[in-house]
Amino acid sequence: MSVLQDNISRAMGYTERFRSTGVLNHIDGASVAAISGDEIETISPVDLSVLAKVAKSDAADVDRAVKAAETAFASWSKTPGAERRRILIKVAEAIEARAEEIAFTECLDTGQALRFMSKAAIRGAANFRYFADQAPGAEDGEVTRTPEQMNTTSRRPIGPVGVITPWNTPFMLSTWKIAPALAAGCTVVHKPAEFSPMTAKLLVEIAEEAGLPKGVLNVVNGLGESAGKALTEHRGIKAIAFVGESRTGSMIMAQGAPTLKRVHFELGGKNPVIVFDDADIERAVDAATFMIYSLNGERCTSSSRLLVQDSIYDEVCKRVAEIAGRIKVGHPLDPDTVVGPLIHPVHEKKVLSYFDKAKEDGATIAAGGVKLGDEGCFIAPTLVTQATNDMAVAQEEIFGPVLTAIPFKHEDEALSLANDVDYGLAAYLWTNDLSRAIRMTDALEAGMMWVNSPNVRHLPTPFGGVKNSGIGRDGGDWSFDFYMETVNVSFPRADAAITKLGG
Ligand code: NAD
Repeated sequence: MSVLQDNISRAMGYTERFRSTGVLNHIDGASVAAISGDEIETISPVDLSVLAKVAKSDAADVDRAVKAAETAFASWSKTPGAERRRILIKVAEAIEARAEEIAFTECLDTGQALRFMSKAAIRGAANFRYFADQAPGAEDGEVTRTPEQMNTTSRRPIGPVGVITPWNTPFMLSTWKIAPALAAGCTVVHKPAEFSPMTAKLLVEIAEEAGLPKGVLNVVNGLGESAGKALTEHRGIKAIAFVGESRTGSMIMAQGAPTLKRVHFELGGKNPVIVFDDADIERAVDAATFMIYSLNGERCTSSSRLLVQDSIYDEVCKRVAEIAGRIKVGHPLDPDTVVGPLIHPVHEKKVLSYFDKAKEDGATIAAGGVKLGDEGCFIAPTLVTQATNDMAVAQEEIFGPVLTAIPFKHEDEALSLANDVDYGLAAYLWTNDLSRAIRMTDALEAGMMWVNSPNVRHLPTPFGGVKNSGIGRDGGDWSFDFYMETVNVSFPRADAAITKLGG
């Protein structure tokens, strides 16, 4: 049996139970179908076969999950931070122990390649470990003193929160939200993406087996417009942590307005990688191709716009096209595959539509630009050259393995091209001129920038975007600022003067 066949049969073994029972909701420690009994399907992007039925929840299911989260909040929010730490470390260990099951399930459900997904569970566990370690200090605040007063601040968990996640790397992304919420003392109702529901169910089961009390983490599956909307509108939910498209973020803000919901948004991106002619071109090309062609290009921080100084533009584009042509596109469970199938035919259609648009607008497809094979959602790694910044391929988030290359003459032009988009999530800068690097990073409109580097995450640093790419920051203590309320108590150090009234 080949490695691929062996991997497929193991993946089918891991997901067998979903085929027999469906992907159920998980509320108050129990697996439950939607109250209506309704179901949707999750399909394999490899051949569009049905992988499993999934609970199609509505407001009644959300209400049930919120009630469980409210009940659990009473004790979880009072559980000492050191005890929360102990439990969450156990969750991290349990995730690591089932890393293969998580990775194989994720590959099957999302089409992401095993070589990247094998690290997703490890990174998810790292998220749990990192925030577990912060739990004992989560309540801490500061003391400020005047001659008359001593003010002390402290933080309290905000209450049950809703976490709504997208389908790209769903396991890792959900841990990035759920781990800090639990470490802060909040309870959670999680609504995973309808295209990739499986690993959310695995996570809650793993967490409870590791000792997380029932009702602290609940999962409600279903469509965004019903289950997701109901979660954002529920009075019992105090905050919504959302990762997804910018226009969905805008809808969630409107839906949450009547209940004054606190929101945290990690949204789309159209991130520039800017290469000056003094840069290490080989490293810049390797990093740019990695950041757009890994994870199928379905990555919010992908380097989707390649801005290259005109003196090296042809050389850089030639190298990128060669790499794009050599990349192995194939079954996500093949260890050699780099680019797997895109998540769903609906998304594949969107990505394919940009190839005609690019040609109509006058750009050139220098590599890829085609669907591969007759079944499944496979697209060739693509490079679009001779593009200008006003084209759709330069402005809109394609969310596939599609890189748009645009030449620039000098620093000012590079900066204005980089900033001339609605998004502002990440930017990558390649130059060996230190003064230029400082000038550019001072002026680039992005929440996160990397100089002479691909995206390398350090969990204590802030993660998030500006402009249409998001609101709020995750990572380090920034996460706790979202999941907690800061309160101030003032004690007198001397009697304050009180103006007597009516005397
Ligand atoms: P999406 O916005 O379509 O869906 C995300 C989630 O929102 C899903 O669970 C969906 O069911 C739910 N949803 C949809 N409509 C809703 C509504 N009206 N109310 C409540 N919930 C609703 O996004 P997607 O297509 O699943 O994911 C891709 C997007 O996610 C891309 O734009 C990508 O850039 C973004 N993303 C951003 C980051 C980041 O950190 N900035 C990370 C990963 C993905």
